[in-house]
Amino acid sequence: MTPAKPLPKPTAETLPFWQAAAQGKLFFQRCTTCARAQFPPANHCPACGNRALQWQESAANGSIHSHTTVHRAPTAAFKDDVPYVIALIDLDEGFRMMMNWRGSDPASVRIGDRVRVVFEANASPWPLPQAVPVPAQ
Ligand SMILES: [Zn+2]
Repeated sequence: MTPAKPLPKPTAETLPFWQAAAQGKLFFQRCTTCARAQFPPANHCPACGNRALQWQESAANGSIHSHTTVHRAPTAAFKDDVPYVIALIDLDEGFRMMMNWRGSDPASVRIGDRVRVVFEANASPWPLPQAVPVPAQ
């Protein structure tokens, strides 16, 4: 039997993100003073120190900033997944997230490719964000 993968464990700071994810919505924080987009969730703005951060919904569209293809599973839980792509996604609202890229061919992924963030169910109540390729127009 394949061991279980690690699952999300919401904290007081991240719970609004996971609650939104459970409804298929991608939330991020925006500073009410300097307007900087913030992810991952924090209790203050790292740019100006303001403690008033507001949750906003992202349109969930972005571009690949960078990516790597994993050929050797980090633990036995991932051995059936290799090769798989982990990507840094620049969301259009100005924040960056790391997630799996769910295209069909790892060799086809390119920096700058457009993606849409979707949520994938797992054994927890908190679905994980995943990037799916958006065909070029
Ligand atoms: Zn700020």
